[in-house]
Amino acid sequence: MRPATQKSGTELYECFDCGRRTEHAESLVCTACGGELWNLSQSRDL
Ligand SMILES: [Zn+2]
Repeated sequence: MRPATQKSGTELYECFDCGRRTEHAESLVCTACGGELWNLSQSRDL
């Protein structure tokens, strides 16, 4: 019963500067270093 892949609709962002990941990004700005967050969910092939 363990999902192998992320469910669709789950937002996942990763900071391009420090690598911090978050599921809840309000303004696409890293709360740790102020870097830019990238949406990993969109990088997946649909
Ligand atoms: Zn960061």
